[in-house]
Amino acid sequence: MKLVRVITLIGVYLSLTVAQAQTKKTSSGLPPKSVSVAQGQVARWAGNCLRCSLEKRAWAAVNGTCYYPVDMDMKPGHYTISRRTTGGKLETATLKVAAKECIQEDLANFPKKEYVTISTTNQARATKEASLVNPLIRFQAKERPAVFDLPVGKPAHNLPQGEGNFGACRTLNGQPRDRHTGQDYPVGVGKPVLSVGNGRVLLAANQFYSGNAVYIDHGNGLISEYFHLKSFSVKPNQTVTKGQSIGLVGETGRVTGPHLHVGVRWHGACINPGFLLIDPSDMPGVN
Ligand SMILES: [Zn+2]
Repeated sequence: MKLVRVITLIGVYLSLTVAQAQTKKTSSGLPPKSVSVAQGQVARWAGNCLRCSLEKRAWAAVNGTCYYPVDMDMKPGHYTISRRTTGGKLETATLKVAAKECIQEDLANFPKKEYVTISTTNQARATKEASLVNPLIRFQAKERPAVFDLPVGKPAHNLPQGEGNFGACRTLNGQPRDRHTGQDYPVGVGKPVLSVGNGRVLLAANQFYSGNAVYIDHGNGLISEYFHLKSFSVKPNQTVTKGQSIGLVGETGRVTGPHLHVGVRWHGACINPGFLLIDPSDMPGVN
């Protein structure tokens, strides 16, 4: 056990040394490149990119641009990112991750009491559903090619502003619970829910917490999630197109009222979907 830890530490030290050496080499008199982002945001490195990496994880560029999604729980600090250009050049930069304060939400006020006191049956059901979903949304070393474009499409017609509760820290009677993994939009019951991009349905099912839920794989490790639907009209493995209606807004699962919950996982990172709706040139860029 101890030996494993020592070897791991040596490995971390060596990878840091390599990263530092690469940073020095690429700087060649110029100030080292960097980009600053907050937890849940996306950084980009534009121009002739083929492959991108963040520490030990690597993925393909999208239309020549590297995107670095930062998980809402990524530890604040400095990380090494790199890109391989179409000309074969390897460049590194520093990704500076800043903490994003989370707003507090208390689940004790939920009108659906089965979500305040969870029965053993419901707990077992939720655990089983999580074990089905987690492998689908985590980082995959081999991802399908991107079939989406940025900015992505809106998940509903005349999309109102989000409720600003992405990443909210939740408590139940003072006890911490899982953070809110998406953004809630106040869209009325029965309104169509639209796929934000071309893709393939990973899962469409009724779940204890998420209610009627649809998960869509857009390639390049980008997965969009739509929860609490009144109903859905797609099946797993079905191909969908950007703007296609996949279901209707509802209030199923753990909700206080009707709304559309949209979540995004990109290379396993849980990010604020709002950042994919902006012009990519407005994302924090490496310079
Ligand atoms: Zn939500």
